[in-house]
This record gives sequence, C-alpha cells and structure tokens, in this order.
Amino acid sequence: MDNLLTRISSKGIDLMALNSQQSLMLWHYVVDEFAESNTEKAYALLMCSEFEVEFNQTQKSIQHLQRALLLLSLPDNIDLILQIYSSLSYRYTDIGEYQSALESLYSLSKLAVDFGDNEFYIQSILGIGNLCSIYGDHLKALRYYQKIESLSKTIQSNNLSLRYRLYIVACLLDLNRLSKAKQLLNECHVIKYVSDDLQLMMQVQLYSAKLLRLQNKPQTALDALIVFRKENINLDSFPWLNKLFSIEASYCLIQLQRGELADVLITHQLKRTKKYSQGYYIRQLLDVKSDALASCHNFSAALECEKEAHQLTVAIVKHFPINELGGHALRRLTRLELQLRLNISESENIKLKKVSDEQKDTVAKLQKDVFHDSLTKLFNHRWYKSTFANEIKPKLATYQLLVIDIDNFKSINDEYSHLTGDVVLKLVARIIEESSGSNNYALRYGGEEFIIIVASNDQQYGKEIADRCRLSISNFDWHETLQDRLVTVSIGMTVCQHNEDINTTFLRADKALYQAKRSGKNRVCIY
Ligand code: GH3
Ligand code: MG
Ligand code: MG
Repeated sequence: MDNLLTRISSKGIDLMALNSQQSLMLWHYVVDEFAESNTEKAYALLMCSEFEVEFNQTQKSIQHLQRALLLLSLPDNIDLILQIYSSLSYRYTDIGEYQSALESLYSLSKLAVDFGDNEFYIQSILGIGNLCSIYGDHLKALRYYQKIESLSKTIQSNNLSLRYRLYIVACLLDLNRLSKAKQLLNECHVIKYVSDDLQLMMQVQLYSAKLLRLQNKPQTALDALIVFRKENINLDSFPWLNKLFSIEASYCLIQLQRGELADVLITHQLKRTKKYSQGYYIRQLLDVKSDALASCHNFSAALECEKEAHQLTVAIVKHFPINELGGHALRRLTRLELQLRLNISESENIKLKKVSDEQKDTVAKLQKDVFHDSLTKLFNHRWYKSTFANEIKPKLATYQLLVIDIDNFKSINDEYSHLTGDVVLKLVARIIEESSGSNNYALRYGGEEFIIIVASNDQQYGKEIADRCRLSISNFDWHETLQDRLVTVSIGMTVCQHNEDINTTFLRADKALYQAKRSGKNRVCIY
C-alpha cells in the first residue's frame, strides 16, 4: 500500500491534514478513479468504510467492506482480508446483526489460524466474548477471554494489549468483581501511555469512572467524567463512547439524587443513538432512563421505558446465535488454537517463546519505563501528575514540596559538553535521592529540575532535608567530572495547604525557588 500512499502524497495531498469529510471524499475518488489495482481499490474501500462509521453510515460501510472482499484473494491479500473481517465484525455488532457478526468472527479466527496470525486470532475471540456480553452472559464472555490468556502473552501491539485488558475489565465491572477490575485497570493506565488509539485511552478513563461509581463514590466518579469531557472535546466523533459517557454520568447523577438531570442527558443521547443503531445500545439507554425516571417517582413513564426495553430484549434474544456460542464453540476454538500453535513454524515458535518469556513482566517493565526517568532512574513528571496526584496524595494528610533547580546548569553544558551535563544530572539525582529520606519521594521534574516530596508538614524537618540536599551537592567532590568547578542548587519549598491541588502547591514552591534564584542562588527559600 506504500505505493498508493506515495502516489497520493506526490499529488500534494497531506492525508493527515484532511478532516473526516475530506478524507471520505478522497478515498471515494481513489476507489473510482485513482486506484491502479484491485488491492488498492479494496484498501480504499476499507478506508471509506472507516470514515463512513463516523457519519453513522454503517450499512454503507458494510457494503463497502463486502465489495472490498470480492476484490481480494488468498494468500496474497491475507493482511487486508483479516483487517476487513475484523472491521465487518465490529460493524455488524454495531447494528445488531449478531449472526453476521459471529460469522465474520469465525471467518476471522479460521483465517488467522491458517495464516498463523495470533493477534487477529485474539481479536476474533475478543469479538466473540463481546457478543456473549451483549447477550448478558458475562461469565461466558470471561471464559472466552480466559481461553486466550496464554496467547495474550505474545501480544506485541500495545493497542491490542490494552484492548484485551479492557474487554476483561468491562466484564469484571458488570459482574461486580471490583478488586480484580481495579488491578487490571491499573495495568491499563500504564499501557495507555504507549498506546496511540485514542478510543482505547478514553475507554480506560470511562471504566475508571465506572469503577468509582460502583465503589459508591458517585461524586468522585462524576468529577472524573467532567474532566474527561473537558479533555476530550472530540468525543462526538465516537458515538459509542459518547453513549458510554452519558450512561455513566447518568448513573452517577441518579445515585446523587439528580434523576431529573440524568433523564435529560439520557433522553438527548437516545435521540442521537436511534439515528445509527437499534437494539442493544438503545436498550442500555432505556435501562438507565427507566432508573432515572423511577428515582424521580415518575413510575408510569419508567414502566413505559421498561416495556420498550423488554421488547428490544426479546428481539435481541430471538436473533441471537446463542447456541453457536456454547460449549461446542469453545471446543471448536480449542482445536483451532492447537492448530494455531502447530502452524507457527518451528523457528517462529522459538521466537514466540522468547517473546512470551520476555513479556511475562511486560506490564511491570512498562510501569517502570512509563513512570521513571531514563537518565536518572528517579520517578518522572508523569509519575507526579498521575501516580502521586491520584494515588499517593489522597492518602497523605499533608506534604511539603521542595523544588530543586541546578544553578547555571546551561553553562556546564556549554563549557564541558552535554554528555558531562548528563553525568552531573545523574550524580545530582543520586545525592537528592540519598538526602530525601526513606518515607519521601524524589523525582526528576524535567531538565535540571528535581522535586522532593516530604510526607509530613513539619517545616523544620522539611528545611533540614532541603539544607542537607543543598549542602551535599555543593560539598560533593566534583573534581573528577568538572575539575575545579562546583555545582550548586537553589531550592524553593512550601507546605501543601488543606485539599489544595498539586498545581497550586507547585506554583507556590516555584515562586519560592524564583526568590532563591533572585537573591543569589545556592540557597533555600520558603513560601
Ligand atoms: P539558572 O541558575 O537560572 O537555573 O540557570 P540555568 O542555566 O540552570 O537554567 P536554564 O533554564 O537557562 O538552562 C537549563 C539547561 O538545562 C538548558 C538545557 O539545555 C539543559 N538541559 C535540560 N535537560 C537536559 C538533559 O537532559 N541533559 C543535559 N545535559 N542538559 C539538559
Ligand atoms: Mg530550570
Ligand atoms: Mg537551572
């Protein structure tokens, strides 16, 4: 496909700069006029179908995918074919054609096995499990996910690794198995930093809010959802996430005795959703609406909702290929999985084993990479903004913040070298860590700035740490690294006021640091 993309960009078109409407038009043009082979045409059809979803044209999207399949042949086009079956399964699920969805998923799993593609195989199983969840059988869904547990260790794509966990989290939340869900969500929070799929990242946030709500913290959950809405102004481009957001926010509102607001929110969402979907999504929304109405004592309207929801449930169940999802299907998959393992050639098997061994602790390793600074090995800025802010700070009654900045560091880089600068950073980091004391946290905030978080509001203790840190750095024997030059730091410190957010505390410490710099550097100032 590189050839096609090169030809497009040689026409002066920057694909990344187009909006969805323009992209759709472009890919239509490629299908009709520009494609030079069936493969290119099929690829363009796949692209059309992706953008059509954004405009709620699911049926058209399906037709384009089917047309694309007819243009392709095995074995040459296997990658594209797998991609299309995968897309088809999502589309059919969206519009409630579960039988066709299941057929696409079976085709996907069979082809993935024949061609030894374990990641598409995993995707197909996730899709089948999802169908079980739609039917309401979360336990069966979990059984499907468990089937791929060993294979999941070979997942190399961060997106799939995240998706795999999110499917399980969704199930666990529905089954109210909160502690296991929380544990997996923590892993998701780490993996999301290395994923480039916006939808998956948003899902992590939504499920985290759902977890909070199920832990009986509706206000915290709602606050998280409001932040989420502000951060993701493009939520409207993802209808199903938008729906999930409304559902979550509504349940929170109901718990907070604001059923009338929940009703407004969900009624609006129902109107939108009915434009592109029937069945399952609508039923989910009706369930919430009924709860909202009942919480405002509007029982007759709630009953109407229940009736409508019931009719939809009957329709879903009637068209649901439930028999094809039972034990027989699971056994069939066991056979396929065996075949998948056999089909992966001997050498690849060794590779797979190696990958799987290496990835046993992928998440633990990622956690390290994501929250640690690679140069100094201290915690990094991201750790401060997420782990500290969300997990540690709430447990601390109070704390002191020391912001440490190396004096005249730029001149060290200029006069010695950037490499020497790096050595200085490492040494300073070690001294800071050693000076910070065992109950406290040291991190590299960025560049030549560090932070010590002192888990106490005893100012004298905080000042002792700051002084110890400053003096240990200026008294350190820098001769080996910098000959006769010394290194000093300026430190600004402050105590976190009751319930203050991390930014406010930081700004105050930063002001104190500025004061220390202005009054001659190599000193500690307190604000
Ligand atoms: P002041 O006393 O006012 O803090 O002066 P300064 O020179 O320390 O501050 P300034 O902000 O002007 O310069 C900071 C320098 O830190 C600039 C940048 O090149 C350097 N720096 C940032 N990150 C790194 C790094 O990872 N390695 C190295 N070697 N230098 C870095
Ligand atoms: Mg600085
Ligand atoms: Mg500096």
